[in-house]
Order: sequence, then structure tokens, then C-alpha cells
Amino acid sequence: MLRACWFLALALGTALACPRTGLAWGGASHVAITRAACETLPPWQKELLGTQLAGLVHRYCLIPDQVYTDRENARFAMMDSRPGVRYILNLHLPGPPPENLEVLQYFVEKAVAALRAGRVADAARYMGTVCHLVEDYGSPAHVVPEDNMFTLWQQFLPPPEEMKGVLLHGPIENGTFQIRLKDYRPRLLGTSVPEASWRLLHRIHEAILYVRATTVPIIRGLYAGDHKTVDAQQRKAARFDAQVVADALYTILCLGTKRFAPAEVEQLQRVEITRFFPLEAPKLYYPQSQFFGRPYWGYPRVGFTLAEGKRPVPLRLRLRQGEQIREHEIPNGISAGMGRRLTFLLPEGVFQRFEVTAGLHAQLGAQGKVQFAVLGDGKVLQRIVLSGSEPARRLECDIRGVTRLALALESKTSQSQHNYAIWAAPTLIKAPAAKGAP
Ligand SMILES: [Zn+2]
Repeated sequence: MLRACWFLALALGTALACPRTGLAWGGASHVAITRAACETLPPWQKELLGTQLAGLVHRYCLIPDQVYTDRENARFAMMDSRPGVRYILNLHLPGPPPENLEVLQYFVEKAVAALRAGRVADAARYMGTVCHLVEDYGSPAHVVPEDNMFTLWQQFLPPPEEMKGVLLHGPIENGTFQIRLKDYRPRLLGTSVPEASWRLLHRIHEAILYVRATTVPIIRGLYAGDHKTVDAQQRKAARFDAQVVADALYTILCLGTKRFAPAEVEQLQRVEITRFFPLEAPKLYYPQSQFFGRPYWGYPRVGFTLAEGKRPVPLRLRLRQGEQIREHEIPNGISAGMGRRLTFLLPEGVFQRFEVTAGLHAQLGAQGKVQFAVLGDGKVLQRIVLSGSEPARRLECDIRGVTRLALALESKTSQSQHNYAIWAAPTLIKAPAAKGAP
């Protein structure tokens, strides 16, 4: 069972126990991050939380770590679907993405329902649990899959004599810093609980990727006794994490009051998912089992492809514009291989349409021939075969009711080394198709 989180005691060699209250650790990371996030909330939201704001910062963001000691609040970190389970690992360490989404959605829903029923004290506690999850997932000690105690990593990065055998989890994440977000304005992540939870999961993924780059510098800093570097890298991680916490809190309070700024609602109408991670990369990297063999041996990439599997080359498509066909560079496309799928998790009942441009790379794919298919929950929604001599095609699909959207590629030539296929600007859209559209 994992109890070591941002918050655990720093002292090495002492028994690691969950602290009783956040107040004993005033500078601890969960408190520092939640405070920085709360400072960015607009005045109306701070007023709405009232006296619960201090509780959220100092106590409720720690509830999932204190389910055995804070009996009064433990139920705010438990789920009806897991009766009797007091310690839910997903609140601290990410599991498979569908599970993470289920857990997030559960607690966001609870917070929103409590707000709508006028139970602000309960809402603040559920919000504390959401804060904890976001903060833990983005902790420099939690972003390494399968090795959060760093026993494997110490084989790659051997510690100095005096640190041999030390569990690095605590030292990597425990700091005494304070952070401020200055001018950060939290973003609305959705106008419904499923949409907001789904986008929050994507924001958390962005945080995990950002924070992964701080873990090695922190370990090296610890080995060298360089506390300045450790502190600087922990702050860097914590600031990004705090922005995501701010988005989560802001969105929950907007949902709970049904108060949305029209400009923010407008921005949510279309979502480009080029940089969203598919289920084939559950821990935000492609495992070797997901590699493809054609057009080269490799894995999907955003914004470029690898010519002959060696040289990065920008994505270029030939697009029809009126009577003319012109070549364009595509910054927001995915280069993918034959015989593999990219499957994206969608929130229920949010998006109505999916659009994507499918084509072969203007130079590298000129002699290729590929079948592009879009599938919704396993059923084919659109399927076309394109040759490299043809311009790219825009595909539109009705995705009402779809929860898993897949993009699949299949070779239609014996010369599949030319199949440099590109999915450009895959976009989810809330509005239905205009009349007369395909
Ligand atoms: Zn935790």
C-alpha cells in the first residue's frame, strides 16, 4: 500500500507515518500547491467557499492520505462502487486511463452535486480529494510508471555510498517551498461533469509529461547534496501541478453554480485531440508492443515523421482548395503506421461530430496506398482508400454515443514502405453537422 505522497516526512531513517493534520506541516507540498491554486480563483468563487477555503487548503487536500486517522472525513475519499475500500490507490497513483477517468468523474460529480444542494462544506471536502489526486499524479516521485520507490532507477542512476538502500520516493517530492502562480487565470474544462473530468485528465497528462523532466535533476541534486537544485526543480513541478489544480477547482465551482463565461463556453465547442494520448500509450509513452513495422519500424509521432525510420521530416499533405491542389505543412498531424490503431477515450454525451484529414505524405508517400478507417466503439464510421498521388481527404463522422474512437490504417499495396500516412487535425465537435453536409 502506498502511503508516501508529497506530504510524507522528510527525515530519512525515521518511520514514515501519515501525519495527523496538514497544520503540522505548514510548508508541505500539498498545502503549498492547493494554496497557490486557490489564490487564482475569482473573488466570487472564494466568497462562495467562504470559511471552507482555509479547510480546503490546510486539511481537505490531505484527506486521501489520512483516511485511517481522519475518520470524520474519510468518506469523502471513498467510492460507492468500491464499498468498504478505505484507501483508493487511484487517488495517489495513476492506473489505466479509463479507471483514472472513472475516479475523477466520481469525485468531481460529488463536489458539483454538493454545491448544487448548497452543502458547501461537503463540496470543499470532495474538492480536497480531487486536489489530492491531481497533486499526487503530478508529483516528481509519482510520474515514473511502476517504480515509484525508484528501486529500478537506482540501478540506472547508482546512488553515492551514503544513500545506498534509501527509498527515494520521499526525498524526491518532499519540500518546504511556497509557490505563487502570479497572473495565472484558471480555465474552464467543461460545462458538464463528464466533459470537465475528461479534459482534466488530459491536463493531468500534460502535467505528468512536464514533471517527468524534473525527476532526474532532483535525484542528481539529492545525490550531490545540492538542495538549491532540488528545491528549484520541485517548485517547477509544483507550479505546473498547481495550475491544473486551479483549473479543476475553478471548473467545479462553475459547474456547481452553473455559471459560465460565454467566451469560455465557446472555446469548448471544438477540441483538437492531436496531442491527446491514446489508450495504446496508457502510461504516456508507446511500449514496444505498439511499434509498427511499416512504413518504417517505429511508433506514432505528432508533427513529424521519420524518413526511412531515421530522419525527422515535417508532415506535408496535398490539399484540394477549390480547383487547385496545394501542398501544405501540417504542424498538428499524427504520423502513424500500418496495422495499428490509435484509440481515444471520449466523454459520454458531449461530442456529436468528429473531423479529420487523412492523407499520405506529399513526398515520402507518393507511391503508397492506404486504407484509412475511423471506428466508433468498434464499428466503422468512415473508411476510404487513398493513393499517394491523390490529395488528402477530410472525413466527417457522427460520433453521438461513442465512448471509444479509433483511427486505423491498413496497407493496400505490396510496397508498404511508402505508406507514410498522416491523420491531420483530428477534432471533436459539439455541434451537429450543418444541413446538407455529408
Ligand atoms: Zn497521496
